[in-house]
Amino acid sequence: MKKMSGINEHIQRAYAILDDEQLDRELVEKLSGLDGEDILDLVSLANKVRAKYAPETHACTIMNAQSGQCSEDCRFCAQSAHHEAAVDVYPLVGKDEIIERARATHESGVSSFGIVTSGFGFKEIDSTFQRILDGIDTIHDQFPEMNVCASLGILSEETATALASRDIAHYNINIQTNPSRYAELVSRTHRVEERMETVRLLKKRGVGVCCGGIMGLGETMADRIEMAYALKELDVDVIPLNVLIPIKGTALQTQSNLSAAEIARTFALFRLINPYKTIKFAAGRETRMNDFQGLLMLAGANGLLTGGYLTTRGRDTEQDEVFLKDLEGFG
Ligand code: SF4
Repeated sequence: MKKMSGINEHIQRAYAILDDEQLDRELVEKLSGLDGEDILDLVSLANKVRAKYAPETHACTIMNAQSGQCSEDCRFCAQSAHHEAAVDVYPLVGKDEIIERARATHESGVSSFGIVTSGFGFKEIDSTFQRILDGIDTIHDQFPEMNVCASLGILSEETATALASRDIAHYNINIQTNPSRYAELVSRTHRVEERMETVRLLKKRGVGVCCGGIMGLGETMADRIEMAYALKELDVDVIPLNVLIPIKGTALQTQSNLSAAEIARTFALFRLINPYKTIKFAAGRETRMNDFQGLLMLAGANGLLTGGYLTTRGRDTEQDEVFLKDLEGFG
């Protein structure tokens, strides 16, 4: 290998990934300790890896079809009934509203539309789950070229099978953090294993899975690396990464901000651990990254969530379209 002057020796070794070599974990751990000016060199490598192995850019939009009053106690979430966050509360919206939002997404040129519901999940096909299935069928009928995604929580064999028969492009369910610290950092009302089992049930049935997590819950960089390897082992298809937006009334309302450099380093490591996957920058992109939003999209991400999040606003899709066009100039 040619010596690159001025580039950290661990980053130089990591360039082997561009020759289809997997990086060993020891090297990844060394890279995770880099700081200062080395971070931009790491970001540059992650951007080359993205350009080589995951060059396509993906944008999607989600709709919060059922909001608030969730039985679960996820520490970051405004929709948990265990917290006192000011959040809209409504049961599953009618089919017409779902179709209207799908139409608006279709007209904005975004090709993936996700239906999201608050709550533990669905272990059986009750009337609410059936209405979601009907909504999915109608979107397929009216906008056949559109990808329909869903994020409905923990599933059983029965509900996973029903969804798999509906031609879902991706199912989103996040493991949020290092699985072995889920109870401490995320929730004690359900187990991360139930989420991981939902991933397996869907993958076994041929459904693409979108599964990632949140940075800023109080985890360490080592926890983030554990999460990245857990996602690699689950062989998820899309990895959405969120940056915590501390919401008043939640258990994490006073959590301090991560620096842009820390987030860039994390994105870069996720790309090096999961070189071929779609990695999406989800919540926190606009509100927490401010002037560094573009840099973060060059740190290994090849997708974004556009048009707003579940309980916080984002940029509109027209602005993001221009943003994605501009990013194309970087390869
Ligand atoms: S993240 Fe999902 S399961 Fe957890 S409290 Fe929020 S809506 Fe409920």
